[in-house]
Amino acid sequence: MDKNQSIDIKKNINELKIFIGERKINLIAVTKNQSVEKINEILMEGIRVIGENYLKEAQTKFLNLPKDIEKHFIGHLQKNKVKLAVKLFDVIQTVDSYELAEKISIEAQKQEKIMEIFFQINISNDPQKFGIKEEETLPFFKKIFKLKNLKITGLMTILENGLSALEIRNNYKKMKKLFDKIKIELNLKNDMVNLSMGMSSDYEIAIEEGSNMIRIGTKIFGERKFKAR
Ligand SMILES: *Cc1c(COP(=O)(O)O)cnc(C)c1O
Repeated sequence: MDKNQSIDIKKNINELKIFIGERKINLIAVTKNQSVEKINEILMEGIRVIGENYLKEAQTKFLNLPKDIEKHFIGHLQKNKVKLAVKLFDVIQTVDSYELAEKISIEAQKQEKIMEIFFQINISNDPQKFGIKEEETLPFFKKIFKLKNLKITGLMTILENGLSALEIRNNYKKMKKLFDKIKIELNLKNDMVNLSMGMSSDYEIAIEEGSNMIRIGTKIFGERKFKAR
């Protein structure tokens, strides 16, 4: 097969699986901008967890998916779209404000669902990125624990483009430290289990620094037509 002509999804997924090996690392296939046909291809290769960024897109695509696929919302969630997000997804990875958490809690109660959420941390303090500041994470946790129908099981981060390998590594190191600190200080060893960091360009570094959940789009499907992140 000519590499420049077509993307070999099967081969790409196999390479990722080989890299992961025996380690307990969740591979999330990021399916934004990908068709249902492409998603079906990855399901054939054993992928069971997918990530989507856009609610409208997810809504139509999910109609055709098997019921056992775990769906993670990884885009920025606007407060007026919480109802749909709670309905469509198993996990919302991008909770970044108290108001948003509160809305999700209210909506989860209405839908009689326990909503699994992660907190999005702006670990590099990038003014362009959403997320909770590192130093605000602990107090944020304490506040959100009181909200009903939420199950907080992880932290996630998205780094800005253009960082050096060393900067990426240092940010992921900081994330792992924060993750461990929260587990210990809040006694959450059994509940806080997911550290979602690493994308196509930096998943190797992320895993070396302790990630156990990588979100991979390009490395599976090839370049997206519209580069959104
Ligand atoms: C698009 C996206 C990814 C996947 O990015 P790739 O570089 O294509 O692997 C991962 N995480 C988030 C939050 C994204 O928006």
